[in-house]
Amino acid sequence: MSIFEDHTPSHPALVEFRSGLDAIGEVPLSALDVEDLNEFLIEGYRAQQQIKGVLAKIVHEAMNQQLAKRHGEHSLSVHIAGQVHGNSKRVASELAFARWLHRFPDLHIALIAGHVTVAHLNELRTLENKHPKASAHMERAQDFFVDAAAKLQFPQWVNAVGYWFKTLDPDGKLDDPSDPKYGTVIRQLPSGDVIVEMRMDPVTGEAYLTAVEAEEQKIFEAEADLEPEDKLSPKQRTQTAIMRLIAQGFQKADGSFPEPMVQLVMSEKVAEDLLARAMGCVDPDTDGPMDFDPFDLPINYDDVDGRCETIRGTPVHPMHALIPLLIAKMRRLVIDEYNQATEEPDNVPEFRFFNKKQRQVLLALARGKCGIAGCNNPYVWLQMDHIQPHSKSGRTLLPNGQPLCQPHNKAKGDRE
Ligand SMILES: [Zn+2]
Repeated sequence: MSIFEDHTPSHPALVEFRSGLDAIGEVPLSALDVEDLNEFLIEGYRAQQQIKGVLAKIVHEAMNQQLAKRHGEHSLSVHIAGQVHGNSKRVASELAFARWLHRFPDLHIALIAGHVTVAHLNELRTLENKHPKASAHMERAQDFFVDAAAKLQFPQWVNAVGYWFKTLDPDGKLDDPSDPKYGTVIRQLPSGDVIVEMRMDPVTGEAYLTAVEAEEQKIFEAEADLEPEDKLSPKQRTQTAIMRLIAQGFQKADGSFPEPMVQLVMSEKVAEDLLARAMGCVDPDTDGPMDFDPFDLPINYDDVDGRCETIRGTPVHPMHALIPLLIAKMRRLVIDEYNQATEEPDNVPEFRFFNKKQRQVLLALARGKCGIAGCNNPYVWLQMDHIQPHSKSGRTLLPNGQPLCQPHNKAKGDRE
């Protein structure tokens, strides 16, 4: 039964196709014996793959004949999506698949015949993307890909094809770890979430996978007695494993591991509000429950009383800062309305360089940014600079300090 009942196909082949599908749809599956059910399952799956092959053929002919244009539509994907109420982006990616497949007629025939699956072809597409010069060789190797698919299960087939691709790269340049395409990108979104993308050559990747998987296994075993809902999800387990591996870089002499350090800047007002929300505190003035609007977070970028951010200035939702607040070491910083520290963090003797406490204060004041307007260099590049140089009797006190990134600090030093 189609949801588009007003549209019945007219071509005899389509009528037959539709009636075949309808017939299968009407079979009372619960009445089948196990063998028959198995046949329906496997045949259904095979047919699904074959239909994608046939569809790719139809799509290609439609592109050839500029079908979209002749229907007054500028793109075929929009035309199709409009007709079937589908997602045009999804359709566009299927059209891209059809275009790709047209370059490999033997693979296309094999898909229609049910000898390879879409998964095989997507794997080849991925490998070709990684190795653009392989295209010409791939056209000659179509028989090999199909024969191997008949003999091997998919994971083994992937390995066999991987070997074949390696032979196109005799000097191993494609997997050269010094290639700039390898490396890690860490991006921070405006929400404060951090996205990490890593690409490693096969050998580095294997070392990484082994380390992460071993750590994941330890976590998995430690969770054995927990209720399913208390266990970490696989993604969370991977992340916890990676954080542990990072922390191990800071292993202490006694063999224990510190928590990774996080420095937060939170105003007293936000902290009080947070604790009141979390614990239902009593208002010391009225002895009644604290009066606050659950939907009005007292955070505000422009207000020194509204701060809740990391030391690099990334805003943090106060609820996410609750645990750190409860276990943290606190440092009190008094800021005036002009965002200046009004007192020294401690009565320390004055030295040539800013000390650790002064540095933390200056970073908090500068919200983790280089003192040169518009500079967006990373937080870890920041160094503490004497605004009035020390050589010109500038003092090592907070009003004379600012963070500058290493390049800007060096440029300033070179000018002096
Ligand atoms: Zn800078």
